[in-house]
Amino acid sequence: MAKARAPRRPLESYTVKHINKTIKAGDCVLMRPADQSNPQYVARIERIDADARGGNVKVLARWYYRPEESIGGRRQFHGSKELFLSDHYDVQSADTIEGKCTVHSFKSYTKLEAVGNDDFFCRFEYNSRTGAFNPDRVAVYCKCEMPYNPDDLMVQCEGCSDWFHPACIEMTAEEAKRLDHFFCESCSSEGQNKLQNSHSTTKPSDTKPASVINSIVSGGYKTTPEVKRVHKT
Ligand SMILES: [Zn+2]
Ligand SMILES: [Zn+2]
Repeated sequence: MAKARAPRRPLESYTVKHINKTIKAGDCVLMRPADQSNPQYVARIERIDADARGGNVKVLARWYYRPEESIGGRRQFHGSKELFLSDHYDVQSADTIEGKCTVHSFKSYTKLEAVGNDDFFCRFEYNSRTGAFNPDRVAVYCKCEMPYNPDDLMVQCEGCSDWFHPACIEMTAEEAKRLDHFFCESCSSEGQNKLQNSHSTTKPSDTKPASVINSIVSGGYKTTPEVKRVHKT
């Protein structure tokens, strides 16, 4: 005769003993992958419960997917620490948790002074059955019309405010970092007229450095709402 399933009770929090970390709903955690040669899984804890005696603690995990685990695979604009919040949930033993981590919003990730091992970011939700992303459109930048990859250095044009990859404007990253002013090809004739003085003199103290974004180093992502072009994810 089948035994009635023992009722489980919710837990407010739980201390994972082997890592000595207390977890609660809403926390993001690293979990042991079945195949240990794979990177750790990242999940958001939705719920924690235990059996009637407080043992056998389980968590309801909502998985974050890495770009390579998505149907479309990793794309050039995906950052190395990018994750997609999926619609895929599983119940897991709380003891498979190997650490806590932080999944930042895209904006706050790009403002981090330094990105640690346990820092990730998420800008898309992901439907694991259809491979669809939400939002399904993001702003694109540069001549190459790519969404922003926060791992990449970009420079901002003082004319149109669009951002450019050094390689797309035939520059090295080092050259881009040294720029005092930058006008893209389509703005450059106009820009040179406006800034005739600062171009003909070399007084670094007078010149405002060109904006450079490299969030890994310094942050400074600008949402540039005026950039209306979009990329279909
Ligand atoms: Zn580009
Ligand atoms: Zn421009």
